Amino acid sequence: MDVLRVDDRLSDEERMIRDTVRALVAERIAPRVAGWFDAGTFPARELAPELGKLGLLGMHLRGYGCAGMSAVAYGVACRELEAGDSGLRSFVSVQGSLAMSAIHKYGSEEQKAEWLPRMAAGEAIGCFGLTEPDRGSDPGDMLTRARRDGSDWVLNGTKMWITNGSIADVAVVWARTDEGIRGFVVPAGTPGFTTGDIHQKLSLRASVTSELVLEDVRLPAGAVLPGVTGLKGPLGCLSEARYGIIWGAVGAGRSCYETAVGYAKSREQFGKPIGSFQLTQEKLAWMEIALGQAGLVALHIGRLKDAGEVTPQQISFGKLANVRAALDVARQARTVLGANGITLEYPVIRHMNNLESVLTYEGTQEIHTLVLGQAITGLPAYR
Ligand code: FAD
Repeated sequence: MDVLRVDDRLSDEERMIRDTVRALVAERIAPRVAGWFDAGTFPARELAPELGKLGLLGMHLRGYGCAGMSAVAYGVACRELEAGDSGLRSFVSVQGSLAMSAIHKYGSEEQKAEWLPRMAAGEAIGCFGLTEPDRGSDPGDMLTRARRDGSDWVLNGTKMWITNGSIADVAVVWARTDEGIRGFVVPAGTPGFTTGDIHQKLSLRASVTSELVLEDVRLPAGAVLPGVTGLKGPLGCLSEARYGIIWGAVGAGRSCYETAVGYAKSREQFGKPIGSFQLTQEKLAWMEIALGQAGLVALHIGRLKDAGEVTPQQISFGKLANVRAALDVARQARTVLGANGITLEYPVIRHMNNLESVLTYEGTQEIHTLVLGQAITGLPAYR
């Protein structure tokens, strides 16, 4: 069901993108993703060119082989990708909204020409290294350092929880310099730059998450992103990725909801479909409302973004509200499925576990709450 018919407000082009991505997910992702989750793998090299061919990598960026689509079109694509799996949407977000967007926003002409067309085509994979083992919510206090040595830069430090880290051809790494925080384009294979994967995750298993280690990594002068200094650099990219999550969460929630509706109609107990019991209907009605509201929030923020009017507070509002809504929907859907809800035969618990990561990354729910708290009171409460 979609009682509010939010998608009726999409343009023909936006609906076409929705249908294309939905078909990709149905054919290429849905039949296989439980297996990837179970095995803790993600076939990035296989999927990246397919995603690139559809224009989904750096979809909202202009030039350099990128599709140059609207924010709403990008959001709709994120929603459909995350209905498949949050790991798939994370791959596309990190590639387009974080790594490519950093190079696109702040990079030199040479950096853009070297990396963006290959990344848009899915021939090169990117990652974005901001978080560190001891610095998560407070990246402004990062420990990774870059010092000048003649015209070169030398980087030392460790980044943690980096999506696509070990499979990336290029890492955008943020480091403290004497001038403030700066971004560096670090190609894989640079001496002193190594990666290791994080194992035993019970969330986002169909996604590669890695540690990046930089030991005296020497980079030429041209490796620094010339266009930005300070925390506003990485935060500008995070705003883009958070925007995608506002939509993506709706997709994950919808997949859980649709599964619960289907199950409620076919599963019988006490001689009747469980969907005929009032308690089950109450759950389904509540899920419909939660997802309808989340869908409206996503579309509203998307239209604001396309008009060039969106604020960081609105992005925090959307990320916080929609991920929470999706997680609540997933948990309710899980109960509708009873014991079957805990297996990978159904997508519900996979989405539910994934959404725990989505609640934490790109700014935790607490940090976004503080952003809103500051907007409401004018009083920052971070420390
Ligand atoms: P901490 O900052 O240590 O926070 C722990 C708890 O304390 C949280 O509940 C937090 O909200 C709370 N807290 C912290 N400060 C405050 C405060 N002032 N007031 C109230 N509460 C507070 N990072 C990248 O750079 N690139 C990536 O590609 C990337 N991918 C990720 C993929 C996955 C699967 C995961 C799980 C994380 C990823 N991250 C990535 C890291 C992610 O952004 C961080 O985990 C996140 O910013 C939180 O940092 P932390 O885990 O160190 O938690």
